[in-house]
Amino acid sequence: MSTSNVVLPLQIRKIIFEKFNDTNLRFTNDEIFEILKTNGLESSVTIDDVEQYFNQLRDGGLIRQIAQNFTTNYYKLFDTVEKIKCNSCNQEVYLGKMEPRVCPNSECKATI
Ligand SMILES: [Zn+2]
Repeated sequence: MSTSNVVLPLQIRKIIFEKFNDTNLRFTNDEIFEILKTNGLESSVTIDDVEQYFNQLRDGGLIRQIAQNFTTNYYKLFDTVEKIKCNSCNQEVYLGKMEPRVCPNSECKATI
């Protein structure tokens, strides 16, 4: 598993928590991708590369897709996101209130 596979899903969760943590807000993969780039995303990573992480968050029950326009996907949260300190990996992680209480760090996956 590459570093991106571990780090990017956690970064996307953090961005959702910091910028879009409101169930009435609509946000897009493009908006989050732009913030990832501002935060130092490798220039070789494309919007297509991060789609798998949005699909994971959708399939895991954090976000739901409400519309699509070409490559732009519009999402809303099922419920607000909490910041939690995982005692196993010692990281601050971000978990939707309706998600299973499992650390979203794929190298950890401890019960929280
Ligand atoms: Zn953990």
